Amino acid sequence: MKKAYNFNAGPCKLPKEAIDATIEALKDFNGTGMPVISVSHRSKEWEAVMEECSSLWKELLHIPDNYHILFLGGGASLQFLYVAMNLFDHKAAYLETGVWAKKSLAEARGLAKSRGLGDDAAYAIASSADKTYSYIPKGYTIPSDLDYFHITTNNTIYGTEIKTDMDCPVPLVADMSSDIMSRKVDVSKYAVIYGGAQKNVGPAGVAFVIVRDDMLNRVKTYIPTMLNYKTHVDGGSMFNTPPVFAIYVMVETLKWLKGIGGVEKMHEINTKKSELLYGEIDRNKMFVGTAAKEDRSIMNHCFVMAPEYKALEQEFMDFAKSKGMVGIKGHRSVGGFRASLYNACTIEDVQALVDCMQEFEKMHVK
Ligand SMILES: *Cc1c(COP(=O)(O)O)cnc(C)c1O
Repeated sequence: MKKAYNFNAGPCKLPKEAIDATIEALKDFNGTGMPVISVSHRSKEWEAVMEECSSLWKELLHIPDNYHILFLGGGASLQFLYVAMNLFDHKAAYLETGVWAKKSLAEARGLAKSRGLGDDAAYAIASSADKTYSYIPKGYTIPSDLDYFHITTNNTIYGTEIKTDMDCPVPLVADMSSDIMSRKVDVSKYAVIYGGAQKNVGPAGVAFVIVRDDMLNRVKTYIPTMLNYKTHVDGGSMFNTPPVFAIYVMVETLKWLKGIGGVEKMHEINTKKSELLYGEIDRNKMFVGTAAKEDRSIMNHCFVMAPEYKALEQEFMDFAKSKGMVGIKGHRSVGGFRASLYNACTIEDVQALVDCMQEFEKMHVK
């Protein structure tokens, strides 16, 4: 099989162990004689998978008992609307750190508008749009009369990250799509944590939601049944047919994570990987990192050619491709390069990219 060093931003590399286990389960799921995608979601075999999924989440992230864990279709993007539908009453603030943050705010704005509220009912408390979202805004004050404050902990496109769990005077909601399970999180500081699985915890097709019990029944307005967290809490994420395949792969991915020592150990490994690549970006004369150093993401590493080598951008892209690198093209809104070093990406993968950058430098810098 062709060797690919996969740095895709999502969907992305998943652990080989999870893929292999899934292949087996597609042949014969737990001795049922059926593929995992063909068993009833009401069967006891499937219920055991759902239970294992929840308990792995609880164990790996040390989720307190007053939280519910949901597995829903529609991706992180539908969660933008869920959050507004379930929590927005009169006022909410968002930290505008990129495209995903803007999209989440747009849902709250739309809802506010449909209820005849002004533009300031759902607003950006601070923004880093002035510098193409290359940093995390700081020094803003969170008003105490908000229904909630929304952050995007890792900005996948720009490679910035909020790496600590902030204190917040109002319910804190976080889109953790691209850094969930990359580090230890103090879940008790959040009212809702959500994200799409396809970056660190599984394939596309399922979103995870960790919702504190007091966030159910928050608003008096009607919430469409499928958009109501309460529906899915009551239904154990099986009010309707859940995305069984994506959930199965998620369980296998989390089992792998537990096997290597959980999020604490994973964070150690991720830190090493990240330092290796940023070290090379900073050392190599041909490249420049684009994110503010103190806000650099441990997951998505964004860099461009140094101005004097700008003309060699495509050449580096082709060179890297010839060495088996996949998915290092930067997002179209930023340009340059982006290497996503999610959990399943190994130190060897990162070393291969670093070797490639060094070899390219030798070819061009005298
Ligand atoms: C990928 C991503 C999304 C979008 O996820 P979908 O599951 O495709 O809707 C949202 N937020 C962040 C931070 C992401 O990285």
